[in-house]
This record gives sequence, C-alpha cells and structure tokens, in this order.
Amino acid sequence: MNHQDIRNLSLDELCCFLKDSKEQSFRATQIFKWIYQKGVTSFDQMKNLSQGLREKLAKQFTLTGGNGLKSSPAKQISIDGTTKYLFELADGEKIETVLIPTKTRATVCVSTQAGCKFGCRFCASGVGGFKRNLTTSEILAQILTVQSQLPLTINHLSKITHIVFMGTGEPLDNYENVLKAVRIINLKQGLGIGARRITVSTCGVIPGIERFSREGLQVELAISLHGFDNASRNALMPVNRKYPFDKLMQACREYTKKTKRQITFEYILIKDLTSHAQAAQKLARSLKGVICKMNLIPYNPVQEFDYEAPSRKEINAFKESLIRRGVHVTLRSARGQDVSAACGQLRYQTLKGQHK
Ligand code: SF4
Repeated sequence: MNHQDIRNLSLDELCCFLKDSKEQSFRATQIFKWIYQKGVTSFDQMKNLSQGLREKLAKQFTLTGGNGLKSSPAKQISIDGTTKYLFELADGEKIETVLIPTKTRATVCVSTQAGCKFGCRFCASGVGGFKRNLTTSEILAQILTVQSQLPLTINHLSKITHIVFMGTGEPLDNYENVLKAVRIINLKQGLGIGARRITVSTCGVIPGIERFSREGLQVELAISLHGFDNASRNALMPVNRKYPFDKLMQACREYTKKTKRQITFEYILIKDLTSHAQAAQKLARSLKGVICKMNLIPYNPVQEFDYEAPSRKEINAFKESLIRRGVHVTLRSARGQDVSAACGQLRYQTLKGQHK
C-alpha cells in the first residue's frame, strides 16, 4: 500500500484522493488548514473531519510527529538570533535549515537536497557529495518545524514571513518537488506566504531558469553568480563548464524580458579573486539589459577552504564602482557567523564528526 506523507500532495491531488474515496472535495481545504495553518501532526487532531475520514487518511498517508523528520533537530543559536537546525531524515541523511530573524521578518532558509552535486568551491555542502533529492514533504516539514517553535523571543514574530530556497542543494535540480512545495507555501489554504516573499535560488542551471520563466509565478529568482566572466566563474563554480557565463547572462536577459521580473544576483566577495577593480568593471558590463539587483556577500571564512575575506575598504570600493555604473547594489551583512553560517557548514561539521 502507498503510505506516503500527505504533505507530498498538492491541494488538487488531495481533492482527487477524496473524490476517489467518496468524500467531499472541500475537505481538502480543511485538511490543508489543519496541516499548514494549525500545524497538527496527527489525523486525530483534525476535529472537523468524521472519524471515518480520519481513519481513511491514516490508512493511506503518514503525518508523523516531528513534522516528517526523524527526530527533533539539533540547534545552534547565534547571538543575533540566527538559528541553525540540523535535521535527520527518516533514512539517516542530514539536512540544514536556518531561521534568520530581523525586527520585522522571520525568514527560513530551506534545503532541497541531501548533499549537493554542484561542488561550488566556497561551499561546504558539496564536500560530502550528493545523496538524494528531498521530497516535497521533507521540504515543507523544515518550515513547519521552525513555525512550531515561534514566537521568537528576539522579535516576538509568531509567523514565518519569508522563505528562501538557499540551503543545501540546487533547487532547480529537484524541480518538481521544489515547485510543488513553492505552490503549497504560497497557497492561501497552505502556508499563505506571498509569492514575492519566496525566493528560489539557483547556481545557474539554464534549463531550470527557462522552465521557471514559464510557470507564471511571482516568486523571486536569485542566481548565485560569484564570477564576473567565464574564467573567474569556472574557478569557483564547476556548473559554469556546463552552463557558461555568457549563456547564463543571455538566459537571464530572456528571463527578465519574458517575466518582467527582477533577478537578484548573489556575488561573493573573495580577496584577490572576485573583489578587485577590474572585476567590478567587467561585471557591470555583463549586466547590461538584465533587470537585476546585485547582492554582495563578503566571504564568510570556512575553515575547510583557503579563501580570504576582502577588507572593508575593498568591499566599499567594489560596491561604489558598481553603483557608478548604474547597478542596483545591496551588501549582505554576515549573519550568524558564530554558528557556522556558511551554506552547508553545520551539516559538514557533523559529517566530519561521524567520520572521525
Ligand atoms: S552553493 Fe548551492 S549549488 Fe553550490 S555546492 Fe553549495 S549547495 Fe550546491
């Protein structure tokens, strides 16, 4: 018998199941509200459903405690409130989720794969290799677990306000499961988070970007660029050998033309590699014709890698150079550095511990 997690079903799929089970399809909305808005973890808690329907659901699906993740997560809380969760999945794989609170926002950064096959040189996630795609329910369960631990003492927010798909894994390499999760996050009967508060990030998988442009979603797209030409991007991101810099920029131009939506580029500033004056000039030239915002990220030293962070002076000079050339620039503050804030680092430290 198919005993899958009910959070793998879209609202339409749940409606179909109910129709096939001779139940009324409006029950799907009630079930969604119990799961995503009230955060219940058993069918028995769904008090406005008949006993018979609750039994049918329990026979066909799982809705486990711990929100589908095997055990309560290990947690590290930074002095700025950034909280990293290390979840263990049912098959023993580990994934990370990060809660980033500010005065007005509670942003959750979710993982989409266990491990990663893209091996970006500055990222600890790829070090242990790729394990598998996460299911839609495993993606959603990260958010539900964090939601169950609100309100935050730091800003008293009782609801998650923003979701970013920037944790371990390449979201567009797990396209179907990620897109289904995005739709449930956005759906008013689901988590009800506005599309513009959801950001999907990619390392530059061009076919995924093209497909994403046809979804008709208002969701934000972020691209980890981290290079200003082919050579610099090759040095940091092996994906560039398959989807080279110029072709990626062309795909971005077409994306913004088609969707009329802005792309956010993530650009890591590494001393002597991506933060010098010539890099800024070349980068600004490449961005011509792309509706975009450039988010600069000073390198966050990871002990496994040899790169260095640029000085404050270099960071400011790079930023000013882009602004002079008409680029819309933001500078991301390094959050949670005291709790291994670099992508994948917490998971990697745990893996290292296991292999010692
Ligand atoms: S930055 Fe993203 S795509 Fe690159 S290795 Fe890390 S998780 Fe994978």
